[in-house]
Amino acid sequence: MYSVTRKIDFCYGHRLLDYDGVCRHPHGHNAVAEVEIRAEQLDKQNMVADFTDIKQIVKGWIDRELDHKMILRKDDPLVAMLESLGEPMYLLDTNPTVERIARLIFDISREQGLPVSRVTVWETPTSWATFAG
Ligand SMILES: [Zn+2]
Repeated sequence: MYSVTRKIDFCYGHRLLDYDGVCRHPHGHNAVAEVEIRAEQLDKQNMVADFTDIKQIVKGWIDRELDHKMILRKDDPLVAMLESLGEPMYLLDTNPTVERIARLIFDISREQGLPVSRVTVWETPTSWATFAG
């Protein structure tokens, strides 16, 4: 089995509701997403996938939708305030944990036609979450 993995850096802010730890306070991360594609056979160019395609599809979406934005649960009281200030946000139905962000990037990549097999998001250099299809 072959695989290729592309790393994508981005920054985001979030906080977790109904949670007792320090992550209940708004804070930010310099995150790294790893997007992996696997294949049993290579294409005519002897590739699993073109890194440029992964960059254009996934990094393009992350840059537009997540980078330097607050990722919040839809019912977070911060949403109305940030909206009134014109601050950019990305809203989720669930708490914006790194697990959910990995799943989000996985789903969006698949929706855009990229056959990803795994997305890992590093929230810090020592903590990461993975969603694999
Ligand atoms: Zn956090």
